[in-house]
Amino acid sequence: MAIRFKSLGSGSAGNATLVESTEGAHTSRLLIDCGMSPRQLTLRLQQAGVEPEQLTAIFITHEHSDHIGCAPVFAARHRIPVWMSRGTHAAVGRPESLDDLVCFARDGEAIDLGSMLVQPFTVPHDAREPLQLLCSDGDRQLGIATDLGHASAHVIAMLERCHALLLEANHDPDMLAASRYPPFLKRRVAGDFGHLSNGAAAALAARINHASLGHVLAAHLSERNNLPELAAQALTAALGRSQDEVMLATAASGSIWLTV
Ligand SMILES: [Zn+2]
Ligand SMILES: [Zn+2]
Repeated sequence: MAIRFKSLGSGSAGNATLVESTEGAHTSRLLIDCGMSPRQLTLRLQQAGVEPEQLTAIFITHEHSDHIGCAPVFAARHRIPVWMSRGTHAAVGRPESLDDLVCFARDGEAIDLGSMLVQPFTVPHDAREPLQLLCSDGDRQLGIATDLGHASAHVIAMLERCHALLLEANHDPDMLAASRYPPFLKRRVAGDFGHLSNGAAAALAARINHASLGHVLAAHLSERNNLPELAAQALTAALGRSQDEVMLATAASGSIWLTV
């Protein structure tokens, strides 16, 4: 058994993450979010060594455009099942192209993808019914948590079990306050249903830090309201690690493959 993951690109402009789990001769491949053009998504999958037809399933975390992206077109073109909550499906207008491909996910109901088990969980975010994920090969667990305004007790309980973590470190509060964002948008981003600041991400990471927590990949960094070094500093301090032990997913190229 083995499970690994790779960000294909992450940030306010677009998000996609690939998770691959192998058991014997069988490999399950899950694409989480499709926040880029079909061309870019295909290119980045191929750069990761995966053809669209090799995907077992797609999971859309919520309806914001940096996550749903090209999913209705991409999934229909390649005939890939797409999991999302009923709330997300309604919020994107129940796209006809997904009629025979959509599968409904909800908090607390595990999804069996063959050699990967996916456990969706609710996060506090300003979307209709957002879900983030715990992915497991039956032995090791990967936590995925972006787009959440705060670390609820439920989020912490889900992530406590993970051996690797892709975690949002969205903004630096001072940079956000000084930015040219309109006041309503600043309040939204910093609010309880917005995005995790570097400090909030660090506090969450510290809460779930344990001896068997391996790779931590900081993701969904704001290009305007954050600096990679600020996100890295906050997380390394919270986890008691050196700078090169916390990685950052970039908008342009995501991350390397990381084994859970
Ligand atoms: Zn987002
Ligand atoms: Zn969002």
